[in-house]
Amino acid sequence: MVFIIINGEGSRGDGRSFNELRSLKIESGVLKRADGSAYLEMGGNKILAAVYGPRESFIKRLLKPNTGVIRCKYNMAPFSVDDRKRPGPDRRSIEISKITAEALRPSLLLENFPHSMIDVSIEIIEAEGGTRCAGITAAAVALADAGIPMKDIVVGCAAGKVNDEIVLDLSEKEDKEGQSDVPIAIMPRTNEITLLQTDGILTEDELKLAIDLAIDGCHEISKIQKDALKKRYLSNF
Ligand code: UDP
Repeated sequence: MVFIIINGEGSRGDGRSFNELRSLKIESGVLKRADGSAYLEMGGNKILAAVYGPRESFIKRLLKPNTGVIRCKYNMAPFSVDDRKRPGPDRRSIEISKITAEALRPSLLLENFPHSMIDVSIEIIEAEGGTRCAGITAAAVALADAGIPMKDIVVGCAAGKVNDEIVLDLSEKEDKEGQSDVPIAIMPRTNEITLLQTDGILTEDELKLAIDLAIDGCHEISKIQKDALKKRYLSNF
């Protein structure tokens, strides 16, 4: 795959090249009381994910007789952004919660857990662009940490268009000042896409480039997800 760099390398505000991720750190099993958990830092993002279940739910109408159900809640802490965020759900967090559940669901063997609920909480402690993808990445590690059977560990990453250039993993500044953002999530074993969103304007070729670049980013992040799980579970052997 050849990427066309219109403005040349090094034109990004933080000095990254077009295909470079921000620094990334993932730790799994960070919370005692949750069944599974993960902490992720990516650039200026700090994100905690916690998983409860599979378990019975008091809200019986949400349960299904033939399959388990996954429910996600994405929440931004009031202190996570420059202008204090009003606590509680808003349109954006409701949308991100919905697409997160949809991105994760295809990887889970939910048919093994009829009448059960899996609850995923994603808390954005500090935000610096790309929190929906980073939240999905952290939640997938927390699901694996909870021992929930799955086909693959879903991973999220965005690419986008900034200064007429297709670049990987937009920072908050690039997200706000750029021309387009393309967050995706995949199951890395098969490259099956479980989330694809875009905003702004892209040509068809630019969209293809952005998706390919984001898939490459997902594969890099996937290695770090697996390392986090290996560190937790293989260090005792
Ligand atoms: N943001 C903010 N206040 C908000 C929502 C978002 O400052 O109420 C910032 C935050 O850094 C976030 C970025 O804007 O990461 C981009 O938000 P977007 O809705 O594009 O989602 P994201 O890129 O985080 O998935």
